[in-house]
Amino acid sequence: MVGKLHVLGLITVLFIAVGCGKFRQTPCGNWPAHVRSMEGYSSSQKEAVLSVLLDLNRQNDVALILDQANGDSFPITFGILSESPQNPMRVGLATRDECGCTIQLSEKIFNPSKQLFKSVTFHELGHCAGLNHSSQTGDIMFPVAYPFHSYTAPAFDKFLDDLSMIAGVR
Ligand SMILES: [Zn+2]
Repeated sequence: MVGKLHVLGLITVLFIAVGCGKFRQTPCGNWPAHVRSMEGYSSSQKEAVLSVLLDLNRQNDVALILDQANGDSFPITFGILSESPQNPMRVGLATRDECGCTIQLSEKIFNPSKQLFKSVTFHELGHCAGLNHSSQTGDIMFPVAYPFHSYTAPAFDKFLDDLSMIAGVR
């Protein structure tokens, strides 16, 4: 029950929308995406990110994230989110333009006991594809993150459908 869980982190996103929803026709990158680089991550943090991306592909019927750049695949850069005194609860940030996306993740979410890592990474990938926030508690795109196991299967399927549709891979 999502409503009963302690709210562990608030995600706010600097969303630079350039594509106006026609995201599949961008001048220099189309989904599926690939990871361009991971900056400032330890090898275990890199592994954590890659395993979440692999998991996303496994659960979708079409690959969303390629192993490597291919043609005009959409580049995603991963970085570490600096602590912000203005937004102390922020744990993830996605900044998108028509040529790619940068996802910054707080080191706090790599703490396994909080189980937020997967939720936040999926949420930020959603923004990278062009998804906005949902007002529905329990949605991956709701602006507050919960431990991944607290999301229902239908909520996750809806997220995959929305992401695949807006990314234009389905
Ligand atoms: Zn968000």
